[in-house]
Amino acid sequence: MDMQVSLLDRLFDAGLLIETGVDGLYGRSGQFEDVIAGFERLIDRFGGADGAEAIRFPPGMNRAFFEKSGYMKSFPQLAGTVHSFCGCELDHISLLKCMDEDGDWTEGQKATDIVLTPAACYPLYPTIARRGKVAQTGALYDLQSYCFRHEPSKDPARQQLFRMREYVCVGTQEHVTDFRQSWMDRGLKMMELVGLDVEIDVANDPFFGRAGRMLANNQRDQNLKFELLIPVTSSAKPTACMSFNYHQDAFGAKWELALEDGSVAHTACVGFGLERIALALFAHHGLDVKQWPEHVRTALWG
Ligand code: 5GP
Ligand code: ZN
Repeated sequence: MDMQVSLLDRLFDAGLLIETGVDGLYGRSGQFEDVIAGFERLIDRFGGADGAEAIRFPPGMNRAFFEKSGYMKSFPQLAGTVHSFCGCELDHISLLKCMDEDGDWTEGQKATDIVLTPAACYPLYPTIARRGKVAQTGALYDLQSYCFRHEPSKDPARQQLFRMREYVCVGTQEHVTDFRQSWMDRGLKMMELVGLDVEIDVANDPFFGRAGRMLANNQRDQNLKFELLIPVTSSAKPTACMSFNYHQDAFGAKWELALEDGSVAHTACVGFGLERIALALFAHHGLDVKQWPEHVRTALWG
């Protein structure tokens, strides 16, 4: 924990992250954003020729899609919903009175049709399901979104609102598992180019509760999730900076995503944790980008 607090304090002192008073919710400096922009260009250099369709969703998604996705079954502890005041003038007077008295004014807020996006790919599946059948040769999407996860922490690598860049592949089992493997190879090469030591290991999502433990074990046993780990605040416990997920036909069945031959589509997604990658670079090469090794600066900024 100490190493995490000390990196966070150093990032605040250097002005790279800006405190908001909430753990895991930070402003970022122009310099921090420049590192992310440079790394995203590196992602484009590796993935651009694949011809993915770029789509950018806002950081909120349709609540009905979120409900259907089953997120609340697996990760209720992480979800964030958007609530608003929907009352009349009398309700407004009570609201202000409650705030004046330091009461819980949020109790009267009503759920809107929007929830915060939990992972960049969640709004994609219902969107492409509406378009009809997917070509037998598969389809590829390039996404980036702010994502919300309710897990306040002093670890700068665990943020509540952070950006995820994703490639999502839809197709046959063979196609999407080949896609996932190719990004594991590319991920290793990219991190080598920016001078970071990495390892890839099997992983699981933080499924909630006792039933969740079984789901997590199942995910591991079947090698459905791998993570690319980089030391940020600890070399003993490196941080997941990329993940490589094979969903089998789970999203295909959920959203009735079919290939031209009528079979249920398989899906896989590869996610880059953009803040985490920037933090790994700052932790490894120092807080002054002018002092970073020349080959790293060239890989990021040409
Ligand atoms: P996953 O969907 O695999 O949990 O997340 C995809 C990627 O988003 C992770 O590999 C990681 O790089 C990033 N990520 C996940 N959780 C957090 C978090 O709490 N904070 C930040 N900054 N990035 C995260
Ligand atoms: Zn995804």
